Amino acid sequence: MFERDLQLMKRDALETLQWRKLRRIVRYAYGNVPAIRRRFKAAGVEPDRVRRLEDFARVPLTTKEDFAENYPLGLLAVPREKLVRLHASSGTTGKPKVVAYTRNDLETWTRLMARLFDCAGVTAGDVVQNMYGYGLFTGGLGFHYGAERVGALVVPTGPGNTKRQLMLLKDLGATVIACTPSYGLYLGEVARAEGLDPKKDFHVRVGLFGAEPWSEEARGRVQDAFGLRAMDCYGMSELYGPGVSCECPEQDGLHTWADEFYVETIDPETEEVLGPGEEGELVVTMLNREAMPILRYRTRDLSKLDWERCACGRHHPRMARVVGRSDDMLIIGGVNVFPSQVEHVLMQVPDLAETYQILVTQEVLDKLHVRVELAPDRSALTEAKTAAVRKRTEEDLRSVLGIHASVELVKHGALPRSEGKAKRIVDVRTL
Ligand SMILES: [Zn+2]
Repeated sequence: MFERDLQLMKRDALETLQWRKLRRIVRYAYGNVPAIRRRFKAAGVEPDRVRRLEDFARVPLTTKEDFAENYPLGLLAVPREKLVRLHASSGTTGKPKVVAYTRNDLETWTRLMARLFDCAGVTAGDVVQNMYGYGLFTGGLGFHYGAERVGALVVPTGPGNTKRQLMLLKDLGATVIACTPSYGLYLGEVARAEGLDPKKDFHVRVGLFGAEPWSEEARGRVQDAFGLRAMDCYGMSELYGPGVSCECPEQDGLHTWADEFYVETIDPETEEVLGPGEEGELVVTMLNREAMPILRYRTRDLSKLDWERCACGRHHPRMARVVGRSDDMLIIGGVNVFPSQVEHVLMQVPDLAETYQILVTQEVLDKLHVRVELAPDRSALTEAKTAAVRKRTEEDLRSVLGIHASVELVKHGALPRSEGKAKRIVDVRTL
């Protein structure tokens, strides 16, 4: 086991370590980042008075707007010469969120990614085809360095060129694939269309899926397609990249590495800290970050935390699969709708494929319209049967969402595919 002692550390020891690191990082961020110092002063918080864990709730939250205001590198705690890498992800104002790393930060991130692979059961004998984007996006290099650290052989294909991906998958015999879940599903679909049987022609036993919310039903479909074990991975560029948390073979929540992250859940409206098991927005503090020590980062992702020991033996708290992002939430006629709820319903209808779009339009009132593909072998259904599938889907959506959504069934292959994060929501409301 990679970093066995840290992976198996008991809760008491983890909490003691967390608290020691938290106090240090608060003083470090305050002492070295003028923008953070200003925020503390405005909130009337002195770092030396953060003496108990309860005091930490008074530390000002960091948001993506802080990245915009301090674009590109205003949140640095070290001189430029100490940086060895930059990454960036899309921001709110058209300017990206730029994140910087020192050599120590890259080492921490690589270790976290190695734990992710280790936790998923990937070892030196494995071949990893890494289809996450290489470049400013953190996915590609994050998975790459983690896989190398556990000694696996990496095939750094990056995304796209699906037919070539399939050829390499077959010829080089990858046992692990890493990509977005929507791309994993698409890969299986193209393989079948090319006359391949993903279960027989490939040897993939583990899939590392992340970078977008997905449902338990999508997991079932991609596992069935390849005969692999699909592991959920979570992270974001502002927090190194992927590697904040990952699943173990129990597939029962994602272990958040408590020696490196302090994770809270808050009420997104009141910003009040919630207890274990209460669903809210994840707020994360990196305990060891050198270049950009972000305190209490509002992820916008909704989840809940469980500190019960996992059956795998690890005590690191588990976060539930992310339900959705609070800023992805659609408000339709006053009702909150998460795209993941729509996916959950669609994937339970056997006649439907995995590709869908959610359209929000506005006539007199807001309208929700779901366009979804029929499964490949269902494209020749009779009109009566198609109408029945549509009606069933509309009824299922109504019972889960509490509002009416009109459903349009389209032929398999009619909707656009994505090689990275799927773009599934089209909101054409003008107000
Ligand atoms: Zn576990």
